[in-house]
Amino acid sequence: DGVLYLVPTPIGNLEDMTFRAIRILKEVDWIAAEDTRNTMKLCHHFEIDTPMMSTHEHNEMESREQIVKKLHNGENIALVSDAGTPCISDPGQYVVQAVIEAGLPVVPLPGANAAVTALIASGLTPQPFLFYGFLSRKKKEREQQMQDVLNRSESVILYESPHHLKQTLDDLKKWMHEGRRIVLARELTKRYEQWIRGTIGEVVQWAEDGEVRGEFCLVIEGINEEEEAVLQAEWW
Ligand code: SAM
Repeated sequence: DGVLYLVPTPIGNLEDMTFRAIRILKEVDWIAAEDTRNTMKLCHHFEIDTPMMSTHEHNEMESREQIVKKLHNGENIALVSDAGTPCISDPGQYVVQAVIEAGLPVVPLPGANAAVTALIASGLTPQPFLFYGFLSRKKKEREQQMQDVLNRSESVILYESPHHLKQTLDDLKKWMHEGRRIVLARELTKRYEQWIRGTIGEVVQWAEDGEVRGEFCLVIEGINEEEEAVLQAEWW
């Protein structure tokens, strides 16, 4: 039987591709990519000419059958997403589940991931932490998630698109103790990498003062006992 490899790709800086990732992408029979055109550019850069198939959000269910079949045929497959680690706010989990159910091997490679990269330089407590990914855009679900996020004593990591960042910061501010700290990691690993560290009020002010562009991770300080007591009192 073949092996399914989960291969992280850079989140901005091409030098973050690992030697092992390049070797595996060269050696496998197929690369299952979220966006084949995007991955083609990466492959071109590293002189990889492995054939590609597509596995994205909308065809993951169908493509997992194809992948299991190919693995049963003895072909090796590397799964990649557009950037960073597959399965982390990216396609992959259903393929992984199907391959495990079929009793076939899954081999993950460590590599670039925006969440952990943001966390380690945030200056906030690195563990325990909670990775949330993107908040829902559905009102009810989102409110529940906000409540959950802001009641956590762990550091919480969120992903957000530049387009929705201001809104999300405003929503967080509504529910957050004003002294609580938040860190924005912008354009990680890229030329204009930037860190915005402050209280929620300061960070909202930063977002209002300028144009919000680029990619962002948010790291939110966990709630402390004092704040928890204040919030409890407000709710009752
Ligand atoms: N699978 C990826 C990973 O392992 O980090 C995440 C993919 S998710 C679709 C994209 C989100 O990750 C962005 O909206 C942003 O929140 C975050 N992100 C990705 N690259 C980033 C970067 N260079 N700097 C900051 N955040 C980034």
